[in-house]
Amino acid sequence: MTDRSFRSILTGSFSTPCAKNPTVAMMEAGYAKAGIDARYINCDVKPDNLAAAIAGAKAMEWAGFNCSIPHKIAVIDHLDELAESAKIIGAVNCVQIRDGKLTGNNTDGKGFLASLRKLADPKGKTIFLLGAGGAARAIAVELALAGARHITIANRSIEKAQAIAELLAKHTECQAEAQGWPEGLSIPEGIDVLINATSIGLGDADALPPVDTGSLGHAAIVADVIPNPPMTRFLREARKQGCRTLDGLGMLVNQGIIGAELVVGAKLDPEVMEKTLADIFGVQD
Ligand code: NDP
Repeated sequence: MTDRSFRSILTGSFSTPCAKNPTVAMMEAGYAKAGIDARYINCDVKPDNLAAAIAGAKAMEWAGFNCSIPHKIAVIDHLDELAESAKIIGAVNCVQIRDGKLTGNNTDGKGFLASLRKLADPKGKTIFLLGAGGAARAIAVELALAGARHITIANRSIEKAQAIAELLAKHTECQAEAQGWPEGLSIPEGIDVLINATSIGLGDADALPPVDTGSLGHAAIVADVIPNPPMTRFLREARKQGCRTLDGLGMLVNQGIIGAELVVGAKLDPEVMEKTLADIFGVQD
């Protein structure tokens, strides 16, 4: 007889389409480096099958799972409780299962925050956020909860920016302001952190959010949520203007690390996870 256990800890992701999502490679590299016998299973779950997938995860005693597009809001109806920021954001991308009880978290904004903290503490800072989708909403809430002083949200459809500003005013101490996005938007002076939280640049190294690139230097730090390619044109233009930059790869790695701490209770190594993704994305050193 051997003492060895042949039962792995089960985790994974529910989304559709899922085939292009490299999170599984990043997470399993992290688990392997940490010496944890855990699997991360990338599952294609259609909206009509979400309830059955969650019931299956519970029945098989998974430790937890990530939710990505299109389940981040719909999953909430199946959970027992929500962490504070997930409650405010109104979306969940990470679920822990403990003794059959499901708790929803949102690690997107927390992943961004962990990345940003390597360059600056958001407390007291003035933020300019481009975009008002799910990523922008999560980032805005986490920055506000972390003590940011003022956040301007600029979006093509201003109503979505206004909804985030109202959310921040209701739940946090942060001053929030919404505006539309005219072509060639100029970034005002005195910004501490400028963030592209739109999908512009995903899979397209030449795509650029329609801003006046000469005004990027008005921000001390310029960040992008786009993980692939990590060095977006937005960040390249910001570097030319002398800004410090932060890419979306770091955000992706950090949300995975925070998720693993919640779900399997282990601290994973960011370097091996970042290298795994960089290799997949074909990033040169
Ligand atoms: P959503 O679809 O919810 O939001 C997209 C946002 O981009 C909206 O504000 C939309 O504006 C804006 N947008 C899209 N095209 C244009 C355009 N041509 N001009 C101006 N604005 C535009 O997506 P998410 O918020 O969920 O995701 C956004 C990006 O963040 C994705 O690329 C995703 O890969 C990335 N992401 C990265 C993560 C990481 O860990 N690095 C984690 C989560 C997301 P409008 O409302 O007017 O349509």
